[in-house]
Amino acid sequence: MKFPVVVQGLLLLTFCSLASRAATYAAKIKYNTSAVRDPGKLNVHLVPHTHDDAGWLKTVDQYYYGSETKIQLAGVEYILDTLVNELWANKDRRFSYGEMAFFSMWWERQDEEIQDRVKQLVDEGRLDFINGGWVQHDEAAAHYVAMIDQTTRGHRFLKETFNFTPRIGWQIDPFGHSSTHASLMCGALGFDGLFFGRADYQGVFSILKASTVQLLELGDSCNAHLCVTVKHAPSWASMESQR
Ligand SMILES: [Zn+2]
Repeated sequence: MKFPVVVQGLLLLTFCSLASRAATYAAKIKYNTSAVRDPGKLNVHLVPHTHDDAGWLKTVDQYYYGSETKIQLAGVEYILDTLVNELWANKDRRFSYGEMAFFSMWWERQDEEIQDRVKQLVDEGRLDFINGGWVQHDEAAAHYVAMIDQTTRGHRFLKETFNFTPRIGWQIDPFGHSSTHASLMCGALGFDGLFFGRADYQGVFSILKASTVQLLELGDSCNAHLCVTVKHAPSWASMESQR
């Protein structure tokens, strides 16, 4: 059965999310993998998540408070207010948050009642943190020391606030990807998986065509799933025409 390219991408995400790594990480990880795929249906796994640039078209404060709407309609404060309300209203909802620069700004402005509510959402796994750095760093232009420092800052906030340690890398918008990042995030940091976007179109096409998941192996210290997201992949129309 031939699925459209976008659906294949979603299927790839499905497989990445559910594929078992129990043999390697059994002692460390307890993922809920009780969901099973129904072979008679199209199985789609959606991951509601953030990608908040901490400064791109607007400044950090302009993004946070939602000002300068003529430049861009983005107000992170309202996203987080809504997110927590909606998660609290329905136990079946899940969300993955990425960038601590904005989350910590919002957190510091909440009263004790909201903070307790968020802590409960985190404890119950309804609010998850992916990547968990201060920002989602660029992989080509940033020095490796800056990568370590900004990731440490975000992870320290999560550890001190929620006793939470991120397990999944979420690099869905850097322009290019480096072995330095993969080595640091998967090997040194111990992420279980790395999702990334803006991949080279030929690489994405070959993965989609083979309908396989690539495994990133960088020696004994790095053994994580490598998953490509469909967002920001270039020229889907031309890729379709190559199939
Ligand atoms: Zn971005």
